[in-house]
Amino acid sequence: MIIVIDGPAGAGKSTTAKEIARRAGLDYVDSGAMYRGFTYLYLKHGKDRSRLAGLLDDHGLRFEFHSTEARVFHGEMEITSDIRSDIVNSHVSEVAAMEEVRNAVRLLLRDASANGNAVLEGRDLGTVVFPDADYKFFLTADPEARARRRYDERIRKGEQVSLQQVRENVDTRDRIDSSRDIAPLKKADDAVEIESTSLTFEEQVTRILQHIRSTPTETQPNNSDQLKQ
Ligand code: C5P
Repeated sequence: MIIVIDGPAGAGKSTTAKEIARRAGLDYVDSGAMYRGFTYLYLKHGKDRSRLAGLLDDHGLRFEFHSTEARVFHGEMEITSDIRSDIVNSHVSEVAAMEEVRNAVRLLLRDASANGNAVLEGRDLGTVVFPDADYKFFLTADPEARARRRYDERIRKGEQVSLQQVRENVDTRDRIDSSRDIAPLKKADDAVEIESTSLTFEEQVTRILQHIRSTPTETQPNNSDQLKQ
């Protein structure tokens, strides 16, 4: 079963996707971590697009997705926290708009979901990368709520950041991600939209699971067996 969850920054895609994956016994894949990994390389190579392009076949990035976190390595070095830094936050949308980077991530996503059993989160998964996914969701919340969630998450991690700084970054990324020419952030026509501003996390997860249980597909006629819990 392939389930994709798209939506803007801070909509709660990661926590929700991890929980759905855990309950359904599926792999969890974070495509944003891949764009962040390439952004780390771009910054490391002096923001030189041609040097990044030269690396795409042999980039040395490795992604490990667990139910609690996404770990990222460059060669032997773990860069999990580097890909969440302010500098990566402020360049990732620029790098994610590069066609060669999107092609490289698409290949990584195909590999990561090759067993056909995964929950993947991103921006263009339902529209471009997995147009035939079994289930598509588009998670949204109002910008203030999304910025607040991202802020709370970063404060919990002990980071020093202001709500205004987080809000500006979320707004800028949404603007760039939604307006780029290639694979913009967009709800797929056949995706189920979940507006989560006033939903609890549990309610959000329950809505998704209920939809899956009540909508068997040709390829997933017994989906409720897999989602009993
Ligand atoms: O999900 P996350 O906030 O970590 O994503 C970081 C950035 O990666 C997004 O702001 C967007 O620019 C890019 N991205 C994308 N397409 C995806 C996933 C992420 O363009 N499928």
